[in-house]
Amino acid sequence: MAAAILRRKAELRAAVAGWRQAGESIGVVPTMGALHEGHLSLVAAAKSACDRVIVTIFVNPRQFNNASDLAKYPRTEEADAEALAPYGVDALYVPEPGEIYPEGFATTVSVAGLTDVLCGAHRPGHFDGVATVVSKLFLQSGADRAFFGEKDYQQLQVVRRMAADLDLPIEVKGCPTVREPDGLAMSSRNLRLDAAARAAAAALPHTMGAMAAALRDGDTASVAGAAARADLAAAGFAEVEYLELRASGDLRLMERPEAPARLFAAAWIGGVRLIDNIEV
Ligand code: AMP
Repeated sequence: MAAAILRRKAELRAAVAGWRQAGESIGVVPTMGALHEGHLSLVAAAKSACDRVIVTIFVNPRQFNNASDLAKYPRTEEADAEALAPYGVDALYVPEPGEIYPEGFATTVSVAGLTDVLCGAHRPGHFDGVATVVSKLFLQSGADRAFFGEKDYQQLQVVRRMAADLDLPIEVKGCPTVREPDGLAMSSRNLRLDAAARAAAAALPHTMGAMAAALRDGDTASVAGAAARADLAAAGFAEVEYLELRASGDLRLMERPEAPARLFAAAWIGGVRLIDNIEV
């Protein structure tokens, strides 16, 4: 059955209050819509861990550092509601902008350190926008658990830090990246690739996999990274914004995977910026 679409925080709070009274646990899955199987895997994880599940759809203007990226972001509410129907979601929260940023809104939640690197260094203000909206969605939903994808691993770490630092009573769960059959991480941005760029884009996860293998075999990140950048250029990537080995916890830069580490990349192909990360 299709979930009720709630557009006001008062409606959301009323639904949640009823569930709380019945002693039910509540999960929330924050999204910007244009749902694909990556998002749906989070919904499935939430459904199996919680009695009630809220999916939120809000294209958050504050996390876009580029006006045309915001304008081009797909909005597919009807298809999203249909995609969610088989999952037995209890509420689809699609707040009107004023429910999130009312007139006079003046507060920013900013996580230091973790946001200085990777996407934070290339997208000024992005993680302030994320931390601000996510803290609001946590407080508006009052959920016990929140589900985020490892696809956006830095975002996951930022949200974990923010929830811990602010004593938000919510458990943040990370879920594995869902990929297309050729290995490309699912993303709403993939739809913007033309056929040739889409075919070439799979070189990103493949090159990262090869670089991870080289790191495990003892190569340094500098040496393995230079080879990987050459491979990406040969595959048709116009620019590699970053390709870095970092610690899985605090995201400090590493030359060798001496502690739990991940490889992070952002690269442009066919006018689209793709990101990915894998465990090393
Ligand atoms: P977005 O709508 O892009 O803001 O993403 C909403 C949530 O879905 C975030 O927690 C993302 O990390 C997660 N997500 C996006 N793509 C994937 C994917 N391919 N696999 C798993 N989770 C994903």
